[in-house]
Amino acid sequence: MAARLVEAGLRVAVVEAGPDYGSYRSGGWPTELLDAGALPETHDWGYRGQGAGGQRLAFERARVIGGCSAHNGCAQLAGWRGDYDAWAASGCPGWSCEELRPWFAGSIERLRVRRFSPEEIQPFQRGFLGAAVAAGVPFTDDVDDLDGEVGCGPEPVNVVDGIRWNTAFAYLDPVRDRRELTIVAEATVESVLIANGRASGVRARVAGQPRELRADLIVLCAGVYGTPEILLRSGIGPAGDLAELGIGVHVDLPAVGANLHDQPAFQLEFAGTERLREELELFARTCWLPEEQALAKIASPMADGPFDLNVYPWVEPDEAQPAGWRCVVPVGLLTPKSRGRLRLRSADPGERAEVDHAYLAEAADVAALAHGVLWALQVVRQPEIAGYLGFPLRFLPDPHDGVLDKWIRSTHAHYWHPADASVFQRLPRATPALPTAVVGERIADLILKPRTG
Ligand SMILES: Cc1cc2nc3c(=O)[nH]c(=O)nc-3n(C[C@H](O)[C@H](O)[C@H](O)COP(=O)(O)OP(=O)(O)OC[C@H]3O[C@@H](n4cnc5c(N)ncnc54)[C@H](O)[C@@H]3O)c2cc1C
Repeated sequence: MAARLVEAGLRVAVVEAGPDYGSYRSGGWPTELLDAGALPETHDWGYRGQGAGGQRLAFERARVIGGCSAHNGCAQLAGWRGDYDAWAASGCPGWSCEELRPWFAGSIERLRVRRFSPEEIQPFQRGFLGAAVAAGVPFTDDVDDLDGEVGCGPEPVNVVDGIRWNTAFAYLDPVRDRRELTIVAEATVESVLIANGRASGVRARVAGQPRELRADLIVLCAGVYGTPEILLRSGIGPAGDLAELGIGVHVDLPAVGANLHDQPAFQLEFAGTERLREELELFARTCWLPEEQALAKIASPMADGPFDLNVYPWVEPDEAQPAGWRCVVPVGLLTPKSRGRLRLRSADPGERAEVDHAYLAEAADVAALAHGVLWALQVVRQPEIAGYLGFPLRFLPDPHDGVLDKWIRSTHAHYWHPADASVFQRLPRATPALPTAVVGERIADLILKPRTG
């Protein structure tokens, strides 16, 4: 959004809590943020919470220019058209799939999204695709089609020569030299300044010092947890909760922090075999070896569209395993019905909010995930992949002995995809980075239209 506004000649200050490492070409970025082959754990905000069985879960969010796009898995899935049509139908005119298609095309171009070619697919991922087809899901070379159905294929990714092409490279780099753009890094916004009922700036801590930054227009885009935290600290939220924390109420808005939802996931995990190690090593001699590359979209009986589950296997180095590798076959539910809430613990901006996604509170979510897990159990038995999978690293119950639901609740994880609770009314059945870029482009257009006619 910042890039679009600058390109139109507006003066923009991007205020970011984390560091700004400059343009890609400046060479100042840490290697782990550049390497798209694995998920880095540096630059995390440190949110923590619970799963449905009380298990402790990390809710990773990146604190760096580019946000989570600078440390994410680089899968760029647009989802299904019906979800955007549903946004429009439920009171958001202008947000239907047909209206958003040009913005999807623009974001895909900016983020340099491409699909892995067959010879770039590493052996484990190739094995998964073969096994998925054997388990009844057709191969498609375009899993990113907004009109698409169930299918499996290579993931579309924003990876350029092994580099995670984050939104800072895609959008900010082309305008970094423009005098209209200022990037204020290491600046944590504490609250919005409100004068005469209007947002007039933000109160921030810049390099440890309190500062007030003024502007005609404030766009809050601090992510799924950061945005409601700032609003609540600014006195915009449920009046009762704010009063309890001693925060003066500007607007009693119960929706702030509500409707919080995330895509729950369940992981089958195995030690990698010697055969896997040998084949990965051989592959890595001539090709770039990413951990995740393939995807299957499948439908549970609960699906209210053509598919509602993603299976997105990966391998990761694990010194504790005899062959040095761990294989993960996760199932993610794209359309959770469960809704939770984010609440401030105190008015102190240094304290992270309490994040409760209410994972699997709705029985339909457990049933959908269970369907996916049963399908994944079929996949891992197929000869195309079975030779790479050693002993299970987690208990695999007999699907028929009645404990599957309990097992899912007590050991599920998530797909890292809470979307901005204040903006997405319902997560599209996508990976959210691309829809997030589209929302940014679209809102920039809404800001600019009245100015340009
Ligand atoms: C480990 C991981 C893997 C993922 N993999 C994928 C994937 O493969 N594909 C996909 O589509 N999606 C993936 N995602 C999700 C995707 O990256 C996010 O949905 C997307 O980045 C959300 O964008 P956003 O702008 O809403 O928020 P964010 O990316 O969270 O950006 C928010 C920014 O605001 C800053 N901020 C927050 N609070 C403040 C404050 N108080 N003051 C100043 N700045 C502040 C943050 O530091 C951050 O830079 C993944 C996420 C994670 C964590």
